[in-house]
Amino acid sequence: MDKNQILKEFSADPDRYYKVKLFEEQGFIRKACTKCGKFFWTLDANRTLCPDDGTDTYSFIGDPPTTKRFDYTQSWKQVEEFFVKNNHTSVSRYPVVCRWRDDLYFTIASVVDFQRVMGSKVVFEFPANPLVVPQTCLRFNDLENVGVTGRHFSSFCMIGQHSIPENGGYWKDECVDLDFRLLTQQFGIKKEEVVFVEDVWSGGGSFGSSLEYFVRGLELGNAVFTEFQGELGQHTTLDQKIIDMGAGLERFAWITNGTPTAYDCCFGPVNQILFEKIGIDSNSEMLKKYFTEIAKEIDHFDDLNQVRRLAVKNAGITEDQLNKIITPLEGMYLIADHLRTLIFAIADGALPSNVGGGYNLRMMLRRINGTINRLNLKLDIDELIDAHIDYLKDTYPELDEKREDVKTILKLESSRYEESKIHMKKKAEKIREKGIPSVDELITLYESDGITPEYLKEIDAISEIPSQFYSKLSDLHQSEKKKAITELPLEELPETETLFYKDDPMEFEAKVIKVLGDQVVLDRTSFYARGGGQEPDLGTMSGFNVVNVDKHANIIVHKLEGGVPKEGETVSCKVDETRRANITKNHTSTHIINVSSREVLGSWIWQHSAFKDDDHARLDITHHSSLTDEQVKQIEDTANQMVKENYPVNIDYYDRGTAEQKFGFKIYQGGVVPVKSVRIVSIEDKDIEACGGTHVKKTGDIELIKITKTKRIQDGVVRIEFVSGPTAFQYVKDQEEELKKQVVENIAKEKLEKQREENKDKAKEKIPVFIEKILSGESLDSEGINSKGKLCFTSSENYDDYFHQNFGKKLVSKDDSAAFCGIFESGPTIRVIIFAGEKSGINAGDIAKEIASILGGSGGGDDKFAQGGGKDTSKKDAAIQKAKSMILG
Ligand SMILES: [Zn+2]
Ligand SMILES: [Zn+2]
Repeated sequence: MDKNQILKEFSADPDRYYKVKLFEEQGFIRKACTKCGKFFWTLDANRTLCPDDGTDTYSFIGDPPTTKRFDYTQSWKQVEEFFVKNNHTSVSRYPVVCRWRDDLYFTIASVVDFQRVMGSKVVFEFPANPLVVPQTCLRFNDLENVGVTGRHFSSFCMIGQHSIPENGGYWKDECVDLDFRLLTQQFGIKKEEVVFVEDVWSGGGSFGSSLEYFVRGLELGNAVFTEFQGELGQHTTLDQKIIDMGAGLERFAWITNGTPTAYDCCFGPVNQILFEKIGIDSNSEMLKKYFTEIAKEIDHFDDLNQVRRLAVKNAGITEDQLNKIITPLEGMYLIADHLRTLIFAIADGALPSNVGGGYNLRMMLRRINGTINRLNLKLDIDELIDAHIDYLKDTYPELDEKREDVKTILKLESSRYEESKIHMKKKAEKIREKGIPSVDELITLYESDGITPEYLKEIDAISEIPSQFYSKLSDLHQSEKKKAITELPLEELPETETLFYKDDPMEFEAKVIKVLGDQVVLDRTSFYARGGGQEPDLGTMSGFNVVNVDKHANIIVHKLEGGVPKEGETVSCKVDETRRANITKNHTSTHIINVSSREVLGSWIWQHSAFKDDDHARLDITHHSSLTDEQVKQIEDTANQMVKENYPVNIDYYDRGTAEQKFGFKIYQGGVVPVKSVRIVSIEDKDIEACGGTHVKKTGDIELIKITKTKRIQDGVVRIEFVSGPTAFQYVKDQEEELKKQVVENIAKEKLEKQREENKDKAKEKIPVFIEKILSGESLDSEGINSKGKLCFTSSENYDDYFHQNFGKKLVSKDDSAAFCGIFESGPTIRVIIFAGEKSGINAGDIAKEIASILGGSGGGDDKFAQGGGKDTSKKDAAIQKAKSMILG
């Protein structure tokens, strides 16, 4: 929908869409900006320009409009106090990892907290009405602005003020009145300083008017009144009108402090630590001038680098000041900002990786590391993490519990970055040779080689980071792909009654509602349909085999083999009970392995995906490294301890909002739940998940869990394969048998080795004696060696490889008219070895080739030494006869 069109329509009727009681009471005047034409409301009769174009824009820098100064956490206290005093419930922030929406990785606005997707519709679920929430929001689309513009953050606190007009809530008049009083009464800003600008909002099929409020050119908040749906002109009023007021907490702190940048008053002690490292006074006149210029110009140019150059010129900054003060300062702000974002994200269970939302986190840390290297800083990241959390824990106590986990993850990521640098350096050299890469080439470099543009800048391979890089990258990784839905003509059918959620009979009767080829829909079924990673039940339906069961929306479809019943018929069905029992054990085991992994490895463990069949199951968890044998054993032990404790597994239904408030978002291990009534599967307070699968009654029913294999299947994801119940016992038995077999094999091996050694010893004794005898003309027939003069042949089984090699070699070296040929079995092959003295008249190579060809193999060597062989044992006698005749004549 065209926003400008809506704005034009709404602004044409300001009394209806914008004029609130406050404007009338206070005497606000509606004006059109003489520069851009935008409509705004002000108490200042002389004002002719909108806040964006006004002469007072950013004049609060160095001269704040309040007498009191509030930093970031104090500002929230003020906001909270005001709204609670005015009958609002203060709600804790929701996770920054948006577990309740499958189209978003991260929470991007406070209103997202209360949005739930049902089919194609977004519904609102408020835990209280009206409410305020200090919602941390992550946005990665203008990373290049962070640290540079003075007001852009990769994460910020959106003060969410939300209300539904009915049930104790309010609508426009009261909303704007509250926001005005928040500024004037609570923060002490003069009435004349507040300007409201007319605007509209549209998204997700709905739209409404909005009033943005500004003080000295700084937009502090935007009150959106979501009221209509449909196309403009044919629109209707929503059943559920809502107020979505979002204000930037960082900006509230900034306006009361008037520091050169918003960063100066929002990171608490982190700034102190960082400033000491570079030793500059953040409050200097020069910085005030520079950042005021930046703030004024930022909206007038597309290219940030251009804005920066202009501000340098207008503020009269020297090259030296730019390099020694501005550049390091920008780096410091970037580090503080990015680190704060990483703390929130990791504390809420996200991991830096190459996939999904993890992508942006890895990028952030690489930007931190790149900046540290570029500026040649010595920073203790742990110290900065501590400083951030100490400062934030008043508002966000949950961060305190994750302090060590955050440190662990960031340390590991940083060391990986260092390791990858050699590879990156080589790549970067090539880039330098090729010339300046395009934005797309830079994206490819990052995606396939992990090379950040910061790194390329750090090593001077590029001079500036193109301003579209981050927005383009962020667009590419914004949301997950939606699953495809198979089409079946089922629209008219009633939803199937799910017996497996009720009495769960293993034998039941049902009526055939629809037959589509080999697919059958019943009025009710106890066959569990594939879902949530759990494989379907199998069994029989009036004698035909049920080979697959799938769910299409709320209709369950059975695939049969061997025939189908008729529509309207009543059929008797039988579920394969053993299969179901095994799958069920594996499903509860999945929950147990998941919570055990979290206990052993860390709070970042979430289920990534899972699969449960009757004879095996697997759980993919979010983890940064491969598991060690020790960790696998610990997870298995923890899991089996839970089995041993025989905890009851309870299943209860909750209203979704209630479940979220009561148990937190950890319930969404298996992903988003698109229903209002949530099925909660809990194992005491150890594991509580929203889950639609089948489960054992007590953990003891599982009897045993064995992890069979683990593997890091992708960056940030480790697969754990396991078995449980009877399959686990069978696995243990197989393992034991395998072990026994190995013991037996090892004994046989050792015996053979011993035999070989003995033969060798014997050969060592015999060889000199035999040579003596042959050379003196004695017969060795009794030893199985035939001879004619000094030419010898043997096919006796008493001699092995060692004997043949050593006897032949030594014999020929003693007398060059001697020769030796031996044939023997070595494993599956029959081998021949020939040594021939120079004057023996024998050609070793000829014999080897001839014999090998008889045996179906190959041979080679020269006339003095050759060997060969083949696997055709049926030709053994022929080969012996031939060899014997070739050497003895
Ligand atoms: Zn204007
Ligand atoms: Zn489950």
